[in-house]
Amino acid sequence: ETSKETLGFQTEVKQLLHLMVHSLYSNKEIFLRELISNASDAAEKLRFEAVSKGDIYEGDSDLKIHITFDKDAKTVTIEDNGIGMTRQEVIDHLGTIAKSGTASFLSNMTGDQSKDSQLIGQFGVGFYSAFIVADKVDVFTRRAGEAITNAVHWSSMGEGEFTIATTEKAGRGTRIVLHLKEGEEEFADGWRLRSLVRKYSDHISFPVLMQKDTPALDADDEDGEKAEVSAVPEFESVNRATALWTRSKSEVKDEDYTEFYKHISHDFTDPLTWSHNKVEGNLEYTSLLYLPEKAPYDLWNREAPKGLKLYVQRVFIMDQADQFLPLYLRFIKGVIDTNNLSLNVSREILQKDSNVDKLRTALTKRVLDMLSKLAKDDAEKYSTFWKEFGQVLKEGPAEDYSNREKILKLMRFASTHTGNSEQSVSLEDYIARMKEGQEKIYYVVADNYNTAKNSPHLEIFRKKEIEVLLLTDRIDEWMMGQLFDFDGKSFQDVTKGELNLGQVETEDEKKQQEETAKQLDGLIERIKPVLAEQVSDVRVTHRLTDSPACLVLGDYDMGLQMRKIMEAAGQ
Ligand code: ADP
Ligand code: MG
Repeated sequence: ETSKETLGFQTEVKQLLHLMVHSLYSNKEIFLRELISNASDAAEKLRFEAVSKGDIYEGDSDLKIHITFDKDAKTVTIEDNGIGMTRQEVIDHLGTIAKSGTASFLSNMTGDQSKDSQLIGQFGVGFYSAFIVADKVDVFTRRAGEAITNAVHWSSMGEGEFTIATTEKAGRGTRIVLHLKEGEEEFADGWRLRSLVRKYSDHISFPVLMQKDTPALDADDEDGEKAEVSAVPEFESVNRATALWTRSKSEVKDEDYTEFYKHISHDFTDPLTWSHNKVEGNLEYTSLLYLPEKAPYDLWNREAPKGLKLYVQRVFIMDQADQFLPLYLRFIKGVIDTNNLSLNVSREILQKDSNVDKLRTALTKRVLDMLSKLAKDDAEKYSTFWKEFGQVLKEGPAEDYSNREKILKLMRFASTHTGNSEQSVSLEDYIARMKEGQEKIYYVVADNYNTAKNSPHLEIFRKKEIEVLLLTDRIDEWMMGQLFDFDGKSFQDVTKGELNLGQVETEDEKKQQEETAKQLDGLIERIKPVLAEQVSDVRVTHRLTDSPACLVLGDYDMGLQMRKIMEAAGQ
């Protein structure tokens, strides 16, 4: 080995390693899933590169993953003939964490192991999970296309640092050797490893091979000679090795769907639901779309990864293809495999190809249908979804005009009807409860539930038993500014403009109101000049029942929430 150097892990890696080893102890077997998942990604990347560079296969296009073990040496080895890594790639990928927001994510750790293991799960543990069971990890890797003498050996005890050296490796790809910790010897066992591969990696598209479990061949063969124990061990595939989304729905078990989700999403919480579809005809595609249960820690980070995994005719093309879903559905994970794009499609081509628009329209509909189905079938899961992602969905009506009505149906609000702050009322519920003669959907926007609930503007509505939606998310005022109506009923901010309760008010009430107004004319004329500097008008109101006066915004005025946002931004 030459050019050996010792490097330190990035601070975040050290923190993550420490947390992982301590909080994932009860879930330690996942290291195998993570390493097989990486081997599979590496095989897919190689196959993709081979589309344009056929000679990259070096005569070996049979992509596979080998798992071997040595009981005496207490090692488990995972080997692939995928893309491999250069020295710089090893340093970048196995020494740092590229994900943005890592530091702030780690600072959210509580020290409570069960909570932290949940958090780490959302973060994705990946390669470093090897250190849950190993106290030393060796990685031998050669990037496809590099010379045999230009391979890399990375080694670490998972503490503060790692060494890296140049070495020789005949086959391309990566071999990872785990030196098991004391007490973790159970993993150097064929039966145990096999059952883990079946449990976690059955969906992997490449064969995961293990040595056949035959007893030593010492029986005489037909010729009466001692059969020689073959020097080359015989391997067999332990998993099914077909791309999961190509299988028919009826063949795929829920556990398989769940594990596949974890593989593609780098999340290890189970998904809430999924939708698997195969479409033939002019537009040919298979999609498998998942709704995560937990928002990722970086949901609000602009650079956070989003988009689907794109395959063309079952060849992996790219991760994070974000052209296939609108931004307001950026929390959806999954795979799109289509025959309508060419194998050498690039991100630039994706921007222009009209098939992409068609696919995007189709997939958007799939997701919205999946959400409506969840809302109908499982209120509890739907409320989990709404808590995690409702605010993102609220960007929808502005971004996607054509699906506005559908998106609005998926929204849930707090309202004066339920008496609690949970966002559980749909617009359809609201309309079903509208009073006879009520023409509008009333709402109030405030900073928080208590302010909304106690708004003096609600007094008249309470008296008349008219339901009012209580909107308190940061995005609400902006969103309501984009909306005009739902199901033919317009939205009305109860704090804005003249209050006209439509047919809910009887003729008698109206007459009485006019009389009161006349009587108060004199008073108004006296108040106006006093408040001239502060307000634009003073009017008699019928919207209050207990409070003597309230402030009202003009129909076209910026709402209070928006004003605060603008003020905070220094405008
Ligand atoms: P993730 O898979 O979420 O990217 P990991 O921690 O599992 O995170 O892996 C980090 C990176 O290391 C991968 O993105 C990949 O670039 C590289 N890597 C890991 N294992 C392999 C492998 N077997 N072959 C090639 N590259 C690998
Ligand atoms: Mg990984």
